Formats: sequence, structure tokens, C-alpha cells
Amino acid sequence: VSVETERWHRFDVDDALVELATSLDGLTSADAQRRLVEIGANEIAESGSINPLQLIWAQISSVMVLILIGAAALSLALGKLLEAGAIAAIVVLFAALGFAQEYRAEQAIAALRRMSVPLVRTRRDGRVVDVPSAELVPGDVVMLDAGAIVPADLRLVEAASLRVEEAALTGESEPVDKQTDAVDTVETALGDRRCMAYSGTQVAAGRGVGLVVATGMRTELGKIATLLQDVGREDTPLQVRLDHVGKQLAAVGVIVAALVALMGALAGETASDLVLTAISVAVAVIPEGLPAVVTFTLALGAQRMLRRQALIRRLPAVETLGSVTVICTDKTGTLTQNLMTATTFDVADRTLNLDSDASERIHDWPTGAQLMAVAGVLCNDGHLELDTQGTPVLTGDPTETALLRAAHDAGLDIATTRAHAPRIGERPFDSSRKRMSTIHDGSAVDVVATDLLAGGQVAFVKGAVDGLVDRTTAVWTDHGPQPFDDDWRRRVFAANDRMASRGMRVLAVAMRTFAPDTAAADMVGGAETELTLLGLVGIIDPPRPEVRSAVAQCRSAGIRSVMITGDHPLTALAIARDLGMVPAADPATNVAAAKSVLMTGLDIDRATDHEFDQAVATVSVFARVTPEHKLRIVEALQRQHQVVAMTGDGVNDAPALKRSDIGVAMGITGTDVSKEASDMVLRDDNFTTIVAAVEEGRVIYDNLRRFVSFAVAGNLGKIIVMLGWPIPYLLTGAEVDAAVALLPLQLLWLNLMTDGLLGLSMGVEPAEPGVMQRAPHRPDASLWVDGLGQRTVWIGVSIGLSALGVGIWYHENDMSQWQTMIFTTLALMQVFQAFGTRSQTESLRRIGWRSNPALVAVAAFVVVLQLLAIYTPLNDLLNLEPLTGVDLLVCATFGVALLIALEAVKALERSRRRPLVAVVDGDQSGQQESPHLPNPQQPDPQEVNS
Ligand code: ADP
Ligand code: MG
Repeated sequence: VSVETERWHRFDVDDALVELATSLDGLTSADAQRRLVEIGANEIAESGSINPLQLIWAQISSVMVLILIGAAALSLALGKLLEAGAIAAIVVLFAALGFAQEYRAEQAIAALRRMSVPLVRTRRDGRVVDVPSAELVPGDVVMLDAGAIVPADLRLVEAASLRVEEAALTGESEPVDKQTDAVDTVETALGDRRCMAYSGTQVAAGRGVGLVVATGMRTELGKIATLLQDVGREDTPLQVRLDHVGKQLAAVGVIVAALVALMGALAGETASDLVLTAISVAVAVIPEGLPAVVTFTLALGAQRMLRRQALIRRLPAVETLGSVTVICTDKTGTLTQNLMTATTFDVADRTLNLDSDASERIHDWPTGAQLMAVAGVLCNDGHLELDTQGTPVLTGDPTETALLRAAHDAGLDIATTRAHAPRIGERPFDSSRKRMSTIHDGSAVDVVATDLLAGGQVAFVKGAVDGLVDRTTAVWTDHGPQPFDDDWRRRVFAANDRMASRGMRVLAVAMRTFAPDTAAADMVGGAETELTLLGLVGIIDPPRPEVRSAVAQCRSAGIRSVMITGDHPLTALAIARDLGMVPAADPATNVAAAKSVLMTGLDIDRATDHEFDQAVATVSVFARVTPEHKLRIVEALQRQHQVVAMTGDGVNDAPALKRSDIGVAMGITGTDVSKEASDMVLRDDNFTTIVAAVEEGRVIYDNLRRFVSFAVAGNLGKIIVMLGWPIPYLLTGAEVDAAVALLPLQLLWLNLMTDGLLGLSMGVEPAEPGVMQRAPHRPDASLWVDGLGQRTVWIGVSIGLSALGVGIWYHENDMSQWQTMIFTTLALMQVFQAFGTRSQTESLRRIGWRSNPALVAVAAFVVVLQLLAIYTPLNDLLNLEPLTGVDLLVCATFGVALLIALEAVKALERSRRRPLVAVVDGDQSGQQESPHLPNPQQPDPQEVNS
């Protein structure tokens, strides 16, 4: 382990093995454990990806805080030491709170990211196991597949069409072809060391096996790691807009302050009173609690989503999820269980039912079926190992493990078969070609069918029927190979359609033999022509039972679910129908009949942009597509202003994931590259989880809107109080005896202790009834749509006028507690407002007092704080006076009146809307009101009936 990385590429594989004291079977667990302790974890040290200083500066530099600091400085200049000190203290407190909130949110997101640490397929103790990447040590033997991020620096010992994209290290974006021969030049640039794969680079295609030569900070990546550690924080669209709102409010504050000061000057106030007034107004207008509440709510949302198995990688996704209008999803594993089972072999017109014929031994099968089983085992990267009880443990691609299990169950010994026919060449599976082939030393393929093969090399190919049949010239029958004529072609396609329309994935299996003196390995590409078809395998993959109702839920929420799959159109259609994604009405077994809902990759290639844009509005199933098509689908949908969530698992899916509004990666089966490109990772690979996350996203958006409306209404009330107070003086020309309605400290208290605290508890408000029965909000729509703007204004005006009226009445009647009355009326009205606005539509009685216990607790706490402010020595500081019981009752009455008014308005709106809902189909009611909706899906007769 002493060799410097610089030299590994010059070593032969054997020398490297010796140098690392390991073998191609890998290390023993004990040895690996020992090395791990000695060398340390395979991790790039994090050098403060979250910079606290930056966060503190972000807090301090915000406009609101700057204004507050200005206010403190002015107070100081006026000699008002108490005010100045208190405002300064509050600034510090506020900045600290905001900092703590942001810091925690950042850390939570960083922690979430770390949870998606990849597992690496590694040979340990001579077996294949998945090891967390951090536990790799030099000497480990690891396997690489397309889409993997290379977990450590590797000396390659196997490379099959292996291409690695090394942009992260070399800046070269074109993938590099890898091989295993030593590169024997002293000075070789990283990019030219073709027998090496470096940590952090990405496997673009192919398959390989590598020997770990360096881990952690000793890797090439580790050496430059400090350059790459920019986690970059992003604001959500809403945060950007709120920031904007904050700045506007600050500007309004300055204008209003000037206005109030002017009125004061006209009324004959002293200069120092004028400044005090200006400060008070500015403080009143600025929603101090806003940024903290927003970050808190978003971070909390990410936690809630995690509890429902959706791991958020970028905070803005929490908000965007709420506005998703189309979910494009893979079929395999997301809509289905990915529990593939090979149930049917179809060979030369004979169907072998593997379920019922399981007891049948492979030696009794027709020769074609025997060869197919052997081909399925050899042309296969999966692993089957027996545990101590003799039960098979399968690892690998489910399509392939299904073939292994079928062969195993029929009595074929996997290990022996593979040992007898060593692989000497291959072209790995890729989802564009939709097939894979391997070449073997056929002289030893005698496990089942000794005399069937000529004894030279043999190639096995398996893949999609449509592509493979075009490369077929013969078909294997009980009487040996026969020419593949049109009649055979027809029969093969009929068998394919029969299985596919039952929802099966169908693979064709073929072979080609080579004369003993031909080196087939040299012609890997050519080995996929002149094939002899052995037969078809039908593989079932049952739909996930819970998806059907999730699809229906999406439909009622104005969200289309669209399936995108590499599978055959009939397979796709059968599953889509089963899940209610397309009408189940006509059981069309023919693809042409499903034209309005189904499109194939070929159709996409033929369509013009215009045609395609029209098609994506109705098509719910895209079949036989390649990952490259996904990008075109996303773009077409986005051109129609859809907000698209797109799932993906492969390396080629990354561009579509990045382009979509919400890129969704698979936590279990997804490649590292797809996860890196995603906004969200499904820990359970389940479609239902996307829908759950969308629901949470909507709830969070609702809660943020509610809080912003709440804070703005409260501040509007305070502005009215501040602006309205001097008007009587101006009108009557009376002498000023009280410059301002409320003092800066009192306003700060209200903004932080009342609005801020109540706001935090609004972030945990549970879902409103019917969140998933209405249309998604448009991401660019104003916050104030659906009457929220008007409501905010009338609530704000009511609060302001009530408090002002109370204050003026008390003041006119020479009661000294007039200011405390304004203060308390404002606070109590806001407490009741918080309850009255918990739902936009439903009555408080329906959603229940107790459904948000946090709000009840916070409200009680706020009332207690309020009483403390009035009745304890705190009142000295805040310039307040104790109120009598009657006074308190007066304030509370205003609060209750506001609650009653809010409930009455909601009831009125409900009764106005009800008849409308009754006419329209319940599911579509949300869509009726919102013209921006995506094209509604075809009504599903089954849905309507049930
Ligand atoms: P999906 O989008 O459903 O995951 P894939 O791209 O994985 O579809 O597969 C597309 C087609 O490729 C399948 O219908 C099948 O015919 C073929 N195929 C899938 N997996 C393999 C494999 N491991 N080897 C050969 N062919 C495969
Ligand atoms: Mg797949």
C-alpha cells in the first residue's frame, strides 16, 4: 500500500495485486476491517461547506436589519438610550435566531444529502456484497456499471466497453475508453491512464471491475477536493419573491415614515418626536419574523417529506413540488414492484409454463428451451449465491436475476455452467440498444446440450424482441436450426403480443456459433447479426397495488400521470390500463387503436415539434423510448407551461432529470449519476411517494401563504394605527400630547412575540381538507390569488381601525391606558385571526380546534406573554400600564368579533360555491375555477363507476 498513485497505471494487474496484498476474489472482511482502521474512511474531508460567517453576514445585511440598526443609531443620537439598547438587542436576537434557523436548515439538507451515500458492489470473502462507499479500502475489488460514480481510485482489471466521463478531474467532457493493459510511460496525464478509473468520475457506459488503489483524501479527487466543495445555497422562488416583498415593505416603511413625520410637523411636534415617529413606523412596517418563519417552514417540510420516504436534495424542491402538474414516471420498479419472475418460455411454437412445470427438470425440456436457459445464465451479469440454508440470494438487475432463478429452479447449476463457458467478450446492456450480448468459449458449453454446439466460440444475445428479430436468420426447432421466414416471423410476433398484452416484459434470446478458428471476440458488434433465435421469455412484474389509488388521487388533484418505459407498447399499455392511467374501456390489443394515449419512441422521432407538442397533451404512455426521448418529452411539456416531475435511474436520464422542474431519482435502483442530478430521491422507488411529496408541497405552500397574509394583515393594521393617530390633531388643530400611537419597542414586541411566534406554529398546520382535490397553483402566480389579497386587506383594515378607535376613545376620555389598549387590541385580534384563517374555506368547527395543537399552545403562550408585558415590571420597559378586567374584556371582544366575521365570510363563500360544485363532477371542480390547468385527462369509466 506504499506505492504512490502516480505509478499504479504502470503496474500489470498481477503486480498490482501483489503490491496491494489482495486477489481478484477480494479481501476478507477481517482484512478489510483492519485496513479501514489503519487507513481511515474513504471520504473527502468536508472543509466547512456551510460557512457560518457567510450566513451571519446574510442575516445582518438584510434590508430589514439595516433599517433597524439605523433606528437604533437614531435613538442613540436622540439620547434615548433605553430604546437604542433594546432595538440593538432585538437586532442581535433576531439575527441570531435567523442564523440558527438557516444554519439548521442548511445542515439538515447537507445531512439529507449524506444519506444518499452510494453502496458499491464489492467482492469480499469471495462473495459479492454491497459495501458503503466510505468503507472501501485499498485492495478491495469493486464492480462498475453504467451510471456509477467511481468510488475510489481504481486499477482496472476488467473493462467491457467501459467508458468513463472524467470532466470532474480533467475537464474533458467526452467519455474516455478504458482498457486493462498497463500504460508504460513515465509522464502520463491523468486522462491518458486508460487502465485507471479515478474517484468522482462517472461511468458513462459499459461495465468494469477495478482494484482499489487509493481512497479518501489520497485519491486524485481528494487532492483537489477543496476546489469542489461549494454546496451553494439556493433560495426558493417564493423566498426570492418574499425577499422582494420585504424590500418593498421597507421602501413603503420609509415613505410612510416620512409622511407621518410630515403630519407630525404640521401638527407641531418637536424634532425629536418626529424622529421617534419615523422610527416607530419603519419598525411597524417591517415584518421582522418573516425570513425565519419561511426557512423554518421549508426545512420542516423537507423533514416531513423524508418521513414519507422522499429525500429532498434541494430546498427549493419543497416548494416546487406543490405546483407539479405532470408526473412522468418510469414503469419498472416505480409503478411495478420490480419483482420480476420469468413465467413463460416460448420456443418454436411450444409454450413452457414455468410456474406449473417447475418440477420438470431441465433435461426433459426441448433442446431450444435448454439452450435458452443456458443463454439466460451466461448472457447475464446477475449473481446467485446460496446462503447457509441453501436458499438462493440474488443480486443484480431484476430482469436478469429472474432468468437466473428460473434456470436454478429448473435444476441448472449456475456456477458450473458459468465455469464451463468462460466469457471472452461482451457488449453490455444499454437502454438505447435494448439488448446485450456475450461471447463464450463454446467448446465447454456442454452442461446440458453436449452435442448441440459445434465446439467453437458461441455468442448469446438477449433483448427486446423487435430489435432482435431483425438480426435473426434462423430459428431453433426440435430438428435443429431452420430458416427464419415470414411465417416464423409472424408466429414470433404473435407470441410476443400475446405475452405483452398480459403485461409481461418479453425478451428474445438468440445465439450464434462460430467455427473453431474464428475469433468471435474480435467482432463483438458483428456477433449480433446472423442470429439463431432460441425463443422468447415472458417475465411478469406485478404492478404495485397502492399505485392505482395514487394515480386516481393525482387526477383529482389536476395532475397527469404519464408512464415512460423502454418496454414494449403492449406491455406498457396493459400495466397502464391496470393502474387506471389510460381508460380501461376498450381492451385494445393493438397499438394503433391506442394512438391518442400511446406513443412509441419511433413515433416521437417521426413527429415534428408542433405535432409532438400537441401529442404530449393527451398521451399517457410512452413506450419503447430511450432516455434521450425523455428530454424531448420534458421540454415539450414545459413549452405548454406544465410543471414536470420526472423520474429516472440511469446515467442517460441525468439530462432529463436536470431539465425537469423536479428531477426524481430512485433510492434503491438508481445510479449515482441520476441521484446527483436529482432534486429528490425516492427512498422506496415508489410512485406513491412522489404523490405524497406533492401533497406535502401543497400543504407547505398553503402554510407559507397563510403566514405571509397573516403578517402583512397585522402590519397593515399597525400602519393604519400609526398613520391614523395624528389625523384628529390635524383636523381639530388641537395640541399634540402624544406624538405616536405606539412606541418602537411596543411594535417590535408585537412583530416578534405575536406575529413571529404565531407564524412558526402556522408552519405545522396540517393539510387543509381537499388539498388534493384542487388544481395545482401556478409557480408564477401571485401569492394573493383566490381572494387572499382582498381578505388580507380587509382583515388588516379591521384590525387597524378597531385598535385605532379604541385608542382614540380612551384617549379622548382621558384614560391613561389608551396606548396599552391599542397594544393589547392589536395582539388579541391577531391571535383570533390566526385561528380564523387556519383554513381558506372550511369552518374552524369542521377542521377542529385541536388539529393544530402547536397553534393552541403558542396562542396560549402569546396571551401569557402579553399579560406579563402589562402586569410585570416589564411594563416599565415597554411603557405599558396595567389594564382593568373590563379593559381586557373590551380587547378580547374585538378579537372574538374578528373571528366571527372571518367564519361568516367563509360560510358565505362556501354557500356561494356549493351549487357550482354539485353541477360539475366532483373531481373536476378545482379545474373549473382555474383556467391555467393542464389538459384534463380522459375520464376513466371505471373511476366514475366505482
Ligand atoms: P424500463 O424503462 O421499463 O426500465 P428498459 O430500458 O430497462 O425499460 O428495458 C427496455 C427493454 O430492454 C425491455 O423491454 C427488454 O426487452 C430489454 N431489456 C431490459 N433489460 C435487459 C437486460 N438486462 N438484458 C437484455 N435486454 C434487456
Ligand atoms: Mg430498466
